[in-house]
Amino acid sequence: MSPTGDTADADLVAGLLREVRDFPKPGIRFWDLTTVLADARGLAATTRLLAGTLAGDTADVVIGIEARGFLLGAAVAQALGLGIVPVRKQGKLPAVAASRSYDLEYGSATLELPTGVLAPGARALLVDDVLATGGTAAAACGLVEECGATVTSLAVVLELPALQGRARLGDRPLHAVLQR
Ligand code: AMP
Repeated sequence: MSPTGDTADADLVAGLLREVRDFPKPGIRFWDLTTVLADARGLAATTRLLAGTLAGDTADVVIGIEARGFLLGAAVAQALGLGIVPVRKQGKLPAVAASRSYDLEYGSATLELPTGVLAPGARALLVDDVLATGGTAAAACGLVEECGATVTSLAVVLELPALQGRARLGDRPLHAVLQR
């Protein structure tokens, strides 16, 4: 019997995912989603899977984390009938509501949330491509919460469980389409 529904979609996405060894530093296994997103069926399957995991949540807005979270978050927001707010890297926004620095699997970074687009009390769904150490997602949650909004859940295409990123998210629900 051939796989159906979510299993078929997950198999399709897994088959399109590209693993790049030693990028951006020796020893890092980089999971490249450009090969998934460039494929019409891959993009549709990824959107269905992410939106499906979040569909049970009552939410007001999707938050997409720069940069691949913008592509995925916008697709998910469209599927769920919601708008999208970008969490951007430092220095890109003309007006910053909140700012947070954090450690990455391979470096450090600062994320910022724009002013005037996230209403206090808003319920947000956070979308990104990969959860590695969880620093990025935890910082994004912190930004949202600093603005008086709530993260109802997070969804990523790929979770790297060995890096224990889930533990940095506290009791916020995390949905992962695939694990590696
Ligand atoms: P982290 O904060 O460690 O969870 O890292 C997550 C962010 O960094 C995501 O936005 C990913 O795009 C990127 N990232 C970290 N590690 C990897 C990896 N091994 N492969 C692909 N992207 C990664």
